Amino acid sequence: MVQQPYYHSTRGKEACTPKEAILQGIARDGGLFVWDDLDQDPIKLSAFLQYDYQQMVQVLFKKLLWDYTEEELKECTLAAYGDHFDDVLITPLVFAKNQPILELFHGPTSAFKDVALCMLPQLMTKALKGKQEKVMIITATSGDTGKAALSGFQDADRIGILVFYPEGKVSNIQRLQMATQAGNNVDVCAIRGNFDDAQSNVKAIFQSEGAKRLFEEEHIVLSSANSINIGRLIPQIVYYFAAYKQMYEQGKIQMGDLVNFCVPTGNFGNVLAGYYAKLLGLPVRHLIVAANENKVLDDFLRTGVYDRNRPFHKTISPSMDILISSNLERMLYYMCGKDSKKVNDWMCDLANHGRYQIDEETLAKIQDVFLSGYCDNAQTFAEIHRVYEESNYVMDPHTAVGSHVLRQYALSEPTILLSTASPFKFTRDVLCALQITPADDDFQCMEQLSRLANCKIPKGLYALKDLPIRFEQVIDCTDMETYVCEKAKELLK
Ligand SMILES: *Cc1c(COP(=O)(O)O)cnc(C)c1O
Repeated sequence: MVQQPYYHSTRGKEACTPKEAILQGIARDGGLFVWDDLDQDPIKLSAFLQYDYQQMVQVLFKKLLWDYTEEELKECTLAAYGDHFDDVLITPLVFAKNQPILELFHGPTSAFKDVALCMLPQLMTKALKGKQEKVMIITATSGDTGKAALSGFQDADRIGILVFYPEGKVSNIQRLQMATQAGNNVDVCAIRGNFDDAQSNVKAIFQSEGAKRLFEEEHIVLSSANSINIGRLIPQIVYYFAAYKQMYEQGKIQMGDLVNFCVPTGNFGNVLAGYYAKLLGLPVRHLIVAANENKVLDDFLRTGVYDRNRPFHKTISPSMDILISSNLERMLYYMCGKDSKKVNDWMCDLANHGRYQIDEETLAKIQDVFLSGYCDNAQTFAEIHRVYEESNYVMDPHTAVGSHVLRQYALSEPTILLSTASPFKFTRDVLCALQITPADDDFQCMEQLSRLANCKIPKGLYALKDLPIRFEQVIDCTDMETYVCEKAKELLK
């Protein structure tokens, strides 16, 4: 009999099936779920690339999420990608002059998080079938995950969702997107602090004995919609293959040619999915990690020292304002020879001292694949302007960070830039970059940009204009656990 590919924690042997991993989100020892055999049986590229996006999803998921039936996967795929995206290709490849750009923002909330967060609730609902538990999702967001998760989980059966975001550290449109969210199973709360504070406290709630006891009594499973959940990570692998397929079909590459991807990065989820695609057989040479002024990842990839003890910068690419990149742990696990002990030691150092240093051998392996760079605010503004002047293409600030970093490298393979958000989510800064005075009103700004870029305002964003505000609560970080316990009962009544 074939050994079933169980998932287990990066920090130890705690093992579970894909469905269990999706319901649980994070391992009990604080580690992240990984699957050791990712690179054992590579995908046959030329056959795989014949599939359309939905078929790729189903074939890839069957491999990685083996306890879902084909019927279940079909239903999940249809529900997630049937009609939520405004482009049939889901993630279309466009060109700004000669630069290939994979647009990941054609989903309902105009950020790349939609690709995964349209799918995660479907996977979770199927995993709950036949069980008596309910699920309470708690999620920290630096701006985009929150809305995409709320929208994906709205009115899902037996699932409640609570989103924490850092007060004053998301764009006004991002705030409105969350504060106006509809649904009887949703709640949104701002915290006094930054994203890392929100995320560490969410992680602490998962570890808390008090919360655990309370939720067990109520048959509630705590889970997360952050990219630490494999149900969020795995859907993101698909678009790397979809990008390759479009490059091939447009005659830009031959079958089997190596390509690079440049990825604007915060929590390391998106770029990790690219690394997973490589492990699964996609011909990827380099992955370029693009950071903003919070360049903890760029420093790490250059030196092998991860050090979060540094000032936190508020930038115009807020979804990347992160100093603790959770998903890096998974990459470290694969790169250090799948040694849980090593990973555990590094993560203890991070928790206790905010810093760790990896060994030379692991660093060399990482540097063979991962390149990196960073882009400050002034350079981000300049890049949006430069690209527009050169090609009439308007990009959002996160994408511009990637674009700037990409230009620092002259690689022999074609490099695909991932575009992670619609410029309409960050209209005010984009208009400033284009040297146009923004109107006072955010929605007039959208109209200004629409005329200039000659493209339509995403429906979901313009509709915010007329929606009532439902959530205005702000609390201290220290009150998050109590808040979660109260809200869970209310939302899952
Ligand atoms: C979340 C986000 C990122 C960072 O993605 P990670 O997976 O956290 O690295 C980049 N750009 C935008 C617009 C985002 O919403």
